[in-house]
Amino acid sequence: MERKQTINFGAGPAKIPPAVLLEAQKELVNYKGLGMSVLEMSHRSSDFTKILNTAEYLLREILNVPENYKVIFLQGGGSGQFSGVPLNLIGLKEDRHADYVVTGTWSAKAAKEAEKYGKVNIVHPKLDSYTKVPDPSSWELNPSASYVYYCCNETVHGVEFNFIPDTKGVVLVCDMSSNFLSRPVDVSKFGLIFAGAQKNIGCAGVTVVIVREDLLGKVLKECPVVLDYKVQAGNNSMYNTPPCFSIYIMGLVLEWIKNNGGTDAMEKLNREKSSLIYDIINESNGFYRCPVDVKSRSRMNVTLRIKHGDEALEKKFVDEASKLGMISLKGHRSVGGIRVSLYNAVTVEETRTLADFMKQFMKAQN
Ligand SMILES: *Cc1c(COP(=O)(O)O)cnc(C)c1O
Repeated sequence: MERKQTINFGAGPAKIPPAVLLEAQKELVNYKGLGMSVLEMSHRSSDFTKILNTAEYLLREILNVPENYKVIFLQGGGSGQFSGVPLNLIGLKEDRHADYVVTGTWSAKAAKEAEKYGKVNIVHPKLDSYTKVPDPSSWELNPSASYVYYCCNETVHGVEFNFIPDTKGVVLVCDMSSNFLSRPVDVSKFGLIFAGAQKNIGCAGVTVVIVREDLLGKVLKECPVVLDYKVQAGNNSMYNTPPCFSIYIMGLVLEWIKNNGGTDAMEKLNREKSSLIYDIINESNGFYRCPVDVKSRSRMNVTLRIKHGDEALEKKFVDEASKLGMISLKGHRSVGGIRVSLYNAVTVEETRTLADFMKQFMKAQN
């Protein structure tokens, strides 16, 4: 069926590669000639096991995941892991201390959740606004913390780390929900990485957890069994029914990433796309302004204001863009302004269409 031509700049759930949707459509009613849909299949069947194992295999290949890491697929979203991480890891040391770097909405929520299970230390002076990654020289890390937590791309504020923190040997945990597989990553630097699929690698319902094996088994006794990484890893993510269809879609997206050159190619495109938008902001003489420090500007979620937050003009921008088929450009309700999400599935050509619109819009207001 023909789709209305829409360019989706939404922050998540977000655009999925059209080739993936077409493949899913083709297979929906009759998966590989089996006479049933993935939606109807037993998760214990050999056909579904193959779907799940293939997704894991592809992920390991794309990210070069070392052998001593488990890959698990869980429900509960990124937010589920705000609890999962402390429940599984804060008991690594008896003190139950955890260090958090708080650079935006998502890491703030994670820190708040962790407070239920132990002592949380925010490692840097509190920020008055989420517009940068505080310089690591200002961090006071606790050497006896169970782990150091950060979110490498804050989806709401558009703040992205351009480095991996040095924790002096303390286990490093990262929420990569909104830039997962947007660039290569050295997994061996992390104790645990998690990412909800609906931003960059599929649809809502599944969250990937990559965790170093030796960290398993210190789970707090009150941890719900479905969030117990050791139990889930020991059962190939099938302690209970996994989010079968979401895993299937994720598998198709992983295949698409692999066939399109992997994380190196994704990084190159994401650099190019985000530069198209940031260049216009930089050359707009203040008409457009990105509140985020140059060094911490996200390649995935570009946040911007028009004429220092002229809300009427920002609304006009969003409305006019929407009439041209460019949707979901409104900033998160907590920060306002404009947000352009440029996940892997968004093309350079689509980004260029928006860039051209931004130029025209600016011209029309002068
Ligand atoms: C969206 C998002 C989350 C929350 O994901 P849910 O699946 O809605 O729980 C957490 N962290 C980051 C960085 C996100 O972008």
